[in-house]
Amino acid sequence: MSGNNLRPLLPAPPGQRRIIDEDTVPARSKSRAPPVLAACSPCRTARTKCDGVRPSCGRCNTRGDTCAYDVDPNTTRMEGLKQKVTTLQFECNELHELYKYLRTKTEVEAIGILKRIRDTEDPLVVLNIIRDGTFCYNLQLCEKVPEVW
Ligand SMILES: [Zn+2]
Ligand SMILES: [Zn+2]
Repeated sequence: MSGNNLRPLLPAPPGQRRIIDEDTVPARSKSRAPPVLAACSPCRTARTKCDGVRPSCGRCNTRGDTCAYDVDPNTTRMEGLKQKVTTLQFECNELHELYKYLRTKTEVEAIGILKRIRDTEDPLVVLNIIRDGTFCYNLQLCEKVPEVW
């Protein structure tokens, strides 16, 4: 009768095989696979699972899509969102300060600031120059040496 016990060497029927896989696989791939920190933008839009591989995830690779992430590497989506909030709060405060200068400076100075805003793409650059005291409110003087203001 002991000869019968050696029969598992034969290919196992499909049902048995699945039981064996479930016994051996979970410890490795189900619970120890590194968590995906953040899904790429296309996968997030499509609401599909993303392997989080950079620069191009498996799904984008397979589909030939352009893979893109809107959070930094090694950053979870939540951390990325927190960073974004911090940046937005900072910029919001800065813009409020610029607005405050426009309100509280003399009218001539405010017009000078407005002119710089119209000449400069980044309002925070204008604000920094006002703040560090090198802002030139005398437009006629500045127009002669625009680099210096
Ligand atoms: Zn993806
Ligand atoms: Zn992708």
